[in-house]
Amino acid sequence: MQTIGHWIDGKPVTGGGRLGPVFNPATGQRTAEVTLATDGEIADAVRAASAAAVDWSRTSLSRRAGLLFRLRELVSAHQEDLARIITREHGKVHSDALGEVARGLECVEFACGIPALLRGEFSAEVSRGIDVHTVARPLGVVAGITPFNFPVMVPLWMLANAIACGNTFILKPSEKDPSASLLLAELVARAGFPDGVVNVLQGDVPAVTGLLEHPDIAAVSFVGSTPVARHIYEAGTRAGKRVQALGGAKNHMVVLPDADLDAAANAAINAGYGSAGERCMAISVVVAVGTVADPLVEAIAARIPDVVIGPGDDEASMMGPLITAQHRDKVSSYVTGAADEGATVVVDGSRAPDSTAGTDGFFLGCSLVDQVRPGMRVYDDEIFGPVLSVVRVDTYEQAVALINANQYGNGVALFTRDGGAARQFQRDVQVGMVGINVPIPVPVAWHSFGGWKASLFGDSPIYGPEGIRFYTRPQVVTSRWPDPTSEAIDLGFPVNR
Ligand code: NAD
Repeated sequence: MQTIGHWIDGKPVTGGGRLGPVFNPATGQRTAEVTLATDGEIADAVRAASAAAVDWSRTSLSRRAGLLFRLRELVSAHQEDLARIITREHGKVHSDALGEVARGLECVEFACGIPALLRGEFSAEVSRGIDVHTVARPLGVVAGITPFNFPVMVPLWMLANAIACGNTFILKPSEKDPSASLLLAELVARAGFPDGVVNVLQGDVPAVTGLLEHPDIAAVSFVGSTPVARHIYEAGTRAGKRVQALGGAKNHMVVLPDADLDAAANAAINAGYGSAGERCMAISVVVAVGTVADPLVEAIAARIPDVVIGPGDDEASMMGPLITAQHRDKVSSYVTGAADEGATVVVDGSRAPDSTAGTDGFFLGCSLVDQVRPGMRVYDDEIFGPVLSVVRVDTYEQAVALINANQYGNGVALFTRDGGAARQFQRDVQVGMVGINVPIPVPVAWHSFGGWKASLFGDSPIYGPEGIRFYTRPQVVTSRWPDPTSEAIDLGFPVNR
């Protein structure tokens, strides 16, 4: 069986430690093993990244931009390969995997503009003969710890800006779908980046702990579930590192009575069941306001049989399997438990659909649960599967109060034809990313991505302009060059004249 290793100092490295299983979720078969970093391998990766850091930080902006352009071309040329790897290990359908790669590629394209992005600030003659300029300096070695659900896009959220800013980078991908990270590292090497600028360390909790505790790592970017994000933020900042830790979500989609019902029902299906609900920006709660509830539930339920469920490499499939058998069973338990909690299961997808009979893949159907309320597990927990809940409220105010009382604040969507209501909603709602008649408002690469409340720990959203700020620290230089007049001795505090 193939063993998936690390990428350290510009080459593949076979690990010598424990091994973890890697599955094809569409067949349920164990297809490979991934090496899980030992303390020595963690030290090797940090050593390689540290050794490369000084030269890389002094590499000219035009050269860095040139290499990023080449990386952009290589990732673009290998979109199909990356997407196939994603489908094989994650399970999402090929078109969805291609979409993920395209959104990751956007982040590389953004980083190609690094000479302009790092343009500093200059104030001439702040005092007589004195100029001040601010430069954005790299941090050194930075680490990125990523979740299973976007094995290409989320690493590129971090990697592209981190190295563009002059840092070296260690990626610790999810151990559930580790292969795409190695192709990314190989493309980085083929683009001509020096050895050690990008390293991949495979592993699980000990690898993360090792990176968090290592004194030579300056900053950590994390994307994953909320309990782990909170832990990473606390442990990383305790160790003196800069940390951005993006967590889980429970994204609501509010449908006002004036909304286009077909558009809203289609959006609920696409954003609720796309990628089997395993997106941090997936819609998991439809908030039906007033009279829209009955027709909306009916419209969503009527569309569910049209969702073709099957292996991601079958072109007909619209929704693939879940990531593991354990996760599938957990998601299923929310649907089977919903009726006991007092909700109404309108469509029960808690078992594998007939279309997947005869495989051992980790498939589930699409579920629709109506009459859901806060306090029920199906509402309170991030399910991360193809389960849409419907909460019925009487008024717009109740919809906003429901969302603002939720612990998460990642994404939210509003469906309406009323511009005034849409404008009001943006001000009322305590959520980081808002969609108006757009169900999955993942910002483009030149804006930044980040939720509020328990969806983000630390002060910094990820990628875009905030990503550039996160991966640099400002240095302010105040300078004076000798001029014909010399100043007398003065022990007072410098005051601008
Ligand atoms: P996860 O938190 O289980 O794992 C994420 C990473 O942390 C992995 O690399 C994993 O190896 C590591 N990890 C897991 N447990 C750890 C522990 N106890 N200590 C240290 N490291 C640990 O998340 P996942 O299941 O891979 O991904 C799904 C989650 O990620 C969902 O909650 C989803 O909402 C979230 N997510 C959030 C965003 C966002 O931008 N906010 C994006 C994608 C996914």
